Amino acid sequence: MENEAVEKARAQIVKAAQKMAGQNMLPGSWGNISIKINKNAYAITPSGRGYDNLTPDDITIVDAAGQTLDGSLIPSSELPLHLAIYKALPEANAVVHTHSIYASACAAARRDIPPLIEDMVQIMGGAVHCAEYALPGTETLAQNVIKAMNGKRAALLANHGVAAWGVTLDEAMMVAGIVEKAAQLYCIAQSLGGAVLLPQSDIDAMHGFYEAHYRKRQLGEE
Ligand code: 13P
Ligand code: ZN
Repeated sequence: MENEAVEKARAQIVKAAQKMAGQNMLPGSWGNISIKINKNAYAITPSGRGYDNLTPDDITIVDAAGQTLDGSLIPSSELPLHLAIYKALPEANAVVHTHSIYASACAAARRDIPPLIEDMVQIMGGAVHCAEYALPGTETLAQNVIKAMNGKRAALLANHGVAAWGVTLDEAMMVAGIVEKAAQLYCIAQSLGGAVLLPQSDIDAMHGFYEAHYRKRQLGEE
């Protein structure tokens, strides 16, 4: 399968995976990244492969049912999670699943990250909820994550990590980074007596501004 959109998606994923591995968000071969090419073609990282030596040819192309269209490696075992997000949230064009440290600490404690800081509430419009526990790679995990997201851009996976999506891969990566930062701040604030949470009216105002303007500026549309 060779066309411009496929090759572009493969190259974008390799670049993103290496960047996120360098940020300690994809330790070893864990975590995964996908891009929606069109309604019936998705590019996703291979299962069980480290990111240092990843090449565009290693990125698998699958259809909406998860069948391989191109590529010789096994697609990520979290393919059901990625496909469930694309199905439930039609705005999503990219998904990242990370094992970043502080968000994983919150996920291990099965704690939501409360609305404690401006950038996070702009993007999320409230807390980052922790999905009910399920085994990795299962359809149950995928459905639990969709429920915890409730239309928002990210959720924690109990005892596991983070799922985040964006209109672009850059946005999905940014969401995962902001969630990790909020989790780190939450852990630090706990040792200072606990964060003072933002009131819902201010969260709504900040999230509304993000959706109407700030996000468009980030996408170069305003
Ligand atoms: P893959 O290597 O199959 O993508 O799985 C890693 C992972 O994070 C499982 O949850
Ligand atoms: Zn994982």
